[in-house]
Amino acid sequence: MRIFDPHIHMTSRTTDDYEAMYAAGVRAVVEPSFWLGQPRTSVGSFTDYFDALLGWEPFRAAQFGIQHRCTVALNPKEANDPRCAEVLDVLPRYLAKDGVVAVGEIGYDSMTPEEDEALARQLALAVEHDLPVLVHTPHRDKAVGTRRTLDVVRESGIPPERVLVDHLNELTVAMVADSGCWMGFSIYPDTKMSEERMVRVLQEHGTARMLVNSAADWGRSDPLKTRRTADAMLAAGFDDDTVDQVMWRNPVDFYGQSGRLGLDEIKPDDTALFQGNSIKRGGE
Ligand SMILES: [Zn+2]
Repeated sequence: MRIFDPHIHMTSRTTDDYEAMYAAGVRAVVEPSFWLGQPRTSVGSFTDYFDALLGWEPFRAAQFGIQHRCTVALNPKEANDPRCAEVLDVLPRYLAKDGVVAVGEIGYDSMTPEEDEALARQLALAVEHDLPVLVHTPHRDKAVGTRRTLDVVRESGIPPERVLVDHLNELTVAMVADSGCWMGFSIYPDTKMSEERMVRVLQEHGTARMLVNSAADWGRSDPLKTRRTADAMLAAGFDDDTVDQVMWRNPVDFYGQSGRLGLDEIKPDDTALFQGNSIKRGGE
């Protein structure tokens, strides 16, 4: 099985995680830029971070057999801090770089006027740089926030097939399906979406334009949630090809629109078998 985690913050994870992810079948990841937990106080804090996402982290991932790409943006939370908003002026320099496969995460946190401005400016940058966008939906007021996000996306003129709307659940999936945008789901250990709920969403809404991620970061999260969801899909009767579509071909198709994904070939019948914490290899 080959797995592409389309949203994971590896900067906050360990080499043990990389090893376990490889053993579970993960061969590619996209790391969206996000906040640090601690507020940033200057633009330099962003540029050092972006440089790490483009240099150090792909190097670290490659040592464990995992291909690493990133997205860069001013994230929704920090759009409200004037010390951070200045990063919008240096973003074009980063959006021109090869390892950057989308603008993101952008979107709403508290739906303030400052977030409106940052979202509109970054959607315009995506159009200008011919890049897809990764859009975060707020964890509070999710239905209202998602509806408003889709309105702003429509007004921006960016084609919906170049937009991935992330952190969806049962309440927001239908409106995003209708919009023509791609649908992202973050599977967490004990809050929000679980792998079982994800399987039911796929049974109800199909597998086209669907992406599953772990969104693992420095909070309680699990970088193997992609594999656990794939296993839950198989247990529920989805076939290998459908699991491959959701776990590999969909993210390749979405981020491939950047023209920069350029992944080394990985075969669908990659034979790492994952059983709990013990890994068995077949076919060798
Ligand atoms: Zn994230």
